[in-house]
Amino acid sequence: MKKRMLISVTLVIILSSCIVKPTPEKQKPETEYSVSLKRDVLIMMLAYPEFVKGVELIESEPYLIMKSGLKILYDDALVKTPDQKLENADIQDMLSQIYPMSDVTGIMEKDVDPGRYRSYAFFSDVYGDTKELTYANTVKVTYGTQSLRFTKINQADLTFKAAADRVFGLAKSDVSLLDYISPSSGTYNYRVISGTQILSMHSYGIALDMHYNAQDYWQWADPIKAKERIINYPKSIVHAYEENMFIWGGKWNHFDTVHYEYRPEIILKALYFSSQINITKPWSTGVDASNPTIKALIEQIDLSLKNLKP
Ligand SMILES: [Zn+2]
Repeated sequence: MKKRMLISVTLVIILSSCIVKPTPEKQKPETEYSVSLKRDVLIMMLAYPEFVKGVELIESEPYLIMKSGLKILYDDALVKTPDQKLENADIQDMLSQIYPMSDVTGIMEKDVDPGRYRSYAFFSDVYGDTKELTYANTVKVTYGTQSLRFTKINQADLTFKAAADRVFGLAKSDVSLLDYISPSSGTYNYRVISGTQILSMHSYGIALDMHYNAQDYWQWADPIKAKERIINYPKSIVHAYEENMFIWGGKWNHFDTVHYEYRPEIILKALYFSSQINITKPWSTGVDASNPTIKALIEQIDLSLKNLKP
């Protein structure tokens, strides 16, 4: 009896090892570059679902594919100075610095300017590439007693309204906030960044300047007073905007303390992928990969990049 049981157990083991299982296509081992690339593509797809279609390899180079048909090179492989990145950032440059979600305790370190590098190819495709087009995409949003133009693209006007309403609500019980927020110094304005030939994000209708203060801009502020202002700045205002996908210019070494900018990709990258890359873990570690939408995007990105050269 014992012998027969042993034989049947052995048979089961042999048989089960003979069942041919379909071998899934093996993913190539990840590198820091591949992890970073895949994360950035996922972030762009999550942040701009109506605009970013995916990623594609063209002559072995990864391109971000826009729903408009535009293909934007992910990494131009140029070694750039910070000023050159400001003028001509690719998608990789744009997402290279992690925006701190924690409160800052002074002026950021030299050239730490998360969110200040922008891909103009990308922004022009999403928000419009002329003054007429960017203006046509704006709507009026109530801001306290003001009515300000903000883009409706990607429903940015709604998140702007939510952040503004939250802060004006807070100001009802803390009137000291009003000094910081009202009146606004402007939102939509087709213009260049002061002292440069580069388009300001106000040109796309995705930026808000709060109440003007002489210590708010790195170029002309007194460094000691500017630092004090950043330290003492009411963080409840910053949090309300960050929760609504805005970054704050007070978290730049080239600070612009009055400036808030709608940048869902910068906030999502900070929320999901702020930890150091570990290539022994799945590249998507940080997002909820069990969410069906995210899972499908992860599979799509892996498939599109299966021939990525190491
Ligand atoms: Zn501004």
